[in-house]
Amino acid sequence: MEKGLMVVVSGPAGSGKGTVNGHLLKRDDFVYSVSATTRAPRPQEIDGVNYHFISREDFLSRIASGDMLEYTEYCGNFYGTPLKEAIEVLESGKNLILEIEVEGAHNVKAKYPDAILIMLLPPSFAVQEQRLRGRGTETEEKVLARLERTKEELSVVKDYDYVVYNHDGKDIEAAEEILAILKAERASIRRNPSVKENYFA
Ligand code: 5GP
Repeated sequence: MEKGLMVVVSGPAGSGKGTVNGHLLKRDDFVYSVSATTRAPRPQEIDGVNYHFISREDFLSRIASGDMLEYTEYCGNFYGTPLKEAIEVLESGKNLILEIEVEGAHNVKAKYPDAILIMLLPPSFAVQEQRLRGRGTETEEKVLARLERTKEELSVVKDYDYVVYNHDGKDIEAAEEILAILKAERASIRRNPSVKENYFA
């Protein structure tokens, strides 16, 4: 059976990555990679669905036993992608979506060069700013911090394979664009090194 694709979707605050990934995850050929984290659950978050919420001690021992495909420390908490679960999904032929930040994405690519790295962006910085302020859920200080972080995130965009813009009200189109990217990737000669052997078999 053909293996699934490992798909990393990163994006700054306001890119709408949760919504766009949500469209992909409605399909039965996509599975969300549930990360482990040491941060406390937020209201509405469910253990095993949004994250595996584990202790710092547990996290460190899982790193030591090689159980993490990648991990990072972000704002004082650890976040990591469980390796075993990732392998199981790919082996089952389903595509795995990793919604992780840029450092994690870089580490995934280093360990797993076949991974496809997609940067999802609002159409412009001005629109991103409008979206974050429009939410009205965060203090001015937090909005500014998130906008500032976008500069760091985009300074490593060269690590990524594709950029997809999520225009206002066009999140379904953004998800369709990701599907088109994956279709092209599956057809790439790079992923099909045995074309000749298979053809004449
Ligand atoms: P939050 O605490 O807001 O849920 O997540 C903070 C950041 O950590 C987000 O950018 C999120 O994409 C990222 N993140 C979540 N899980 C992982 C993971 O397993 N590995 C890495 N490297 N980043 C993650």
